[in-house]
Amino acid sequence: MAQQTGIVIVGGGIWGLSTAYHLAKLGQKHVRVLERNCELAAETTPQAAGLVGQIRSSATMLRAIQYALELFSRFPEETGYDTGLRQTGSLMVALTPARMEAYARQVERSRQNGIKAEFVSHAEMARLAPALDVSKVEGGYFVPDDGYVQPQQCANAYAAAARDLGVQIQLETHVTGLRLHNDQVLGVETERGFIESNQVVFTAGPWSGILSRKTGFTAAMQPIRHQRACTVPVSGIPEHHPVVRVTDVSCYLRPEKGGYLYGFFEPNPVSIDLDTMPADYRTQDIEPPVAVMTEAQRRLTPIFPILKDLEIAEYRQGMTTFAPDGSYLIGPAPGVDGLFLATGCAALGIAGSAAVGRWLAKWMLEGNPGEDLSDFAPERFGDRAADGAWLRREAEQFYANYYSIRPAE
Ligand SMILES: Cc1cc2nc3c(=O)[nH]c(=O)nc-3n(C[C@H](O)[C@H](O)[C@H](O)COP(=O)(O)OP(=O)(O)OC[C@H]3O[C@@H](n4cnc5c(N)ncnc54)[C@H](O)[C@@H]3O)c2cc1C
Repeated sequence: MAQQTGIVIVGGGIWGLSTAYHLAKLGQKHVRVLERNCELAAETTPQAAGLVGQIRSSATMLRAIQYALELFSRFPEETGYDTGLRQTGSLMVALTPARMEAYARQVERSRQNGIKAEFVSHAEMARLAPALDVSKVEGGYFVPDDGYVQPQQCANAYAAAARDLGVQIQLETHVTGLRLHNDQVLGVETERGFIESNQVVFTAGPWSGILSRKTGFTAAMQPIRHQRACTVPVSGIPEHHPVVRVTDVSCYLRPEKGGYLYGFFEPNPVSIDLDTMPADYRTQDIEPPVAVMTEAQRRLTPIFPILKDLEIAEYRQGMTTFAPDGSYLIGPAPGVDGLFLATGCAALGIAGSAAVGRWLAKWMLEGNPGEDLSDFAPERFGDRAADGAWLRREAEQFYANYYSIRPAE
């Protein structure tokens, strides 16, 4: 006997859960999240550092992050659930004059866009991040309203608020495909039976590519391994410690559990082709990239000498998905009425989750996302999306240059 439902969301990571929350908030009564695991947000989402930073080269993404900061700050009062937001700012550190020039352009543009951003003295940098050896630093600027959340807590906050608004969340339900009639979605096939629905959204993180290919559409997204580490606790980290981005060495650092959490965009990225992996390949199967994080530590130690002697308490690693241009893939899936796709998170899916959920909810209920998202159109790469070698090369290049100085910045 077929089960009936309104909108089906495939994947209970932070994108699916935010979408569920926003759909319910807009008044949609019948929403069901299908998650194959026995718990929510247990794949890419909990690996994240949770940084929510407003310095973006795209105006759409800037508005998206500002919405996230606004939503995360009012979430506890509005819903009773805390996302773990700490709004202690971002300190952008430059090690070279060229980087300072790029920062000057960023500060100027940020101010034009209404973001608070100010250059800070070496003394102020030392106050903000006492372990930073400012004698090695060219300069920097501070974005006071930036912050970070606890990613799994944030995802679970969306889930709890969505449940309170009537969303059904079904665990241990692996979606195996779509049922179509004349290119219109009729519902999803799962290992536990068919679920009827004429609107479905794939928010399956790195697995979205596999799902969308089953409908005949190749999404131009490449899963790439991404990693971070957390040290043992150490004294002297102040409550107000910001996120520190040392973009010249492609690293960031923030406080976590009494120690330092740091992450790294490595110059030689490692793609993971899920098609060639066993069907049950999961985030937990990725080996801790100890050598990569040792390199990150080597790069950070001249400016954060304290890291040299601090043991690593925990490694975290997952797959972030990158499109060749580093922008999201969001919107109606070409050729299938009623199917939406959201992937290509570009290591920015926690910060972008609020806007992603709102865009998708509006799109499904009102027929448009509320702003021009043509830059994120899933079909924007045309036939080239099917060229796996090209896709991989371009996506890896974007990843490796994540913090490179770009002329537009
Ligand atoms: C080390 C690291 C650091 C990061 N740091 C940051 C950061 O500082 N800031 C930031 O914004 N982002 C960061 N990210 C990126 C962020 O984690 C992702 O963008 C985000 O978690 C993507 O969420 P998602 O919901 O799309 O995917 P996921 O969390 O992977 O969720 C997808 C869900 O779909 C489910 N699923 C898959 N296939 C099926 C199926 N067939 N049927 C049913 N369910 C299915 C999975 O089980 C999973 O629960 C980081 C990522 C990593 C790895």
